[in-house]
Amino acid sequence: MLEWMGMYPEELKQALAEMGEKPFRAGQIFSWLHRGARFSEMTNLSLALREKLAAAGVDQPVEIRQTRVSKLDGTKKFLFSLRDGQCIEGVLMHYHYGATLCISTQVGCKMGCRFCASTLDGCVRGLTAAEMLGQVQCANSVLENEKVHNIVLMGSGEPMDNYDNVVRFLRLVSHPEGLNIGLRHISVSTCGLVPQMRRFAQEGLPVTLSLSLHAPNDEIRRQIMPVAHRYSMDETLDACRYYIEKTGRRVVFEYALIDQVNASPACAEELAAKLRGMQCHVNLIPLNTVKERNLYGVSEKQVRDFLEVLEKRHISATRRREMGDDIEGACGQLRKKVLREAQP
Ligand code: SAH
Repeated sequence: MLEWMGMYPEELKQALAEMGEKPFRAGQIFSWLHRGARFSEMTNLSLALREKLAAAGVDQPVEIRQTRVSKLDGTKKFLFSLRDGQCIEGVLMHYHYGATLCISTQVGCKMGCRFCASTLDGCVRGLTAAEMLGQVQCANSVLENEKVHNIVLMGSGEPMDNYDNVVRFLRLVSHPEGLNIGLRHISVSTCGLVPQMRRFAQEGLPVTLSLSLHAPNDEIRRQIMPVAHRYSMDETLDACRYYIEKTGRRVVFEYALIDQVNASPACAEELAAKLRGMQCHVNLIPLNTVKERNLYGVSEKQVRDFLEVLEKRHISATRRREMGDDIEGACGQLRKKVLREAQP
């Protein structure tokens, strides 16, 4: 089955021409699809054409299977189902600057970070661009007076391990005839696949790059992130500098504070020294404890102390607000729970 929504307008034209249809229909179909319409709603197309489209491909690649709403802050956690029966997660957060959607880029993940629930069962497959767009449309369908305004690729999966589909998604979601979401409102988070980060810097896509750093040195990073055995911190930070140089945008470093691992004031000092002079921002987040692993979050005081050291060293840093803590808001937690419950 074709995924119509994952095609660029030129590809849609080509596909229509091959079906013996008029290529100018491509523009109409593109905007219908990206508005989330079903074939049956595409009323300016003939019934025959709508049937042809439906026979050759799908209109909606993603459906909402379950929604949980946080009583604390209204955050919505979605469990989405895909056409092949796989399921993925997304999280919709309501910030004062607009609705922010966190989407998945793969079914599972193979990066093996010790603290992350998404990776516990490995990676099933990468998502297509249409499946990433479908998550945005699902979220739009439950929003009342607004649309998704910001997108973060921070759900399950490693975006740089699904490179072509992610780049295609970014071009399509920001397309003026489509959802038209500004690239400056999109963040792509990576655990640090250096060659892909360097390639990504050259795509001409002014998104925010987030690097999951989580450690001030290679020794600690290697304890919690297998990718750190492949690429040293120096190589990884160099790739970040290259990204800054090429795009003119600052890089955001994600740093999950893990008790007894990376959260001491000495770690903060070491981190500050490593990042000195870089155009960057550090996002601190107390680790969301994952029951399967013996890694624990930190107290408010530990967060404050860590932050204080960074500030004293003039490193821009904030504590990221945790959203949806009561609904298994963190990466991979809900999918994991559903898979666990489904097991006999
Ligand atoms: N693979 C990408 C994007 C998905 S993970 C990446 O590694 O960046 C999104 C973010 O959530 C990453 O910063 C990741 O390190 C973080 N994360 C994963 N599990 C977490 C947990 N238990 N507590 C806090 N942050 C977590």
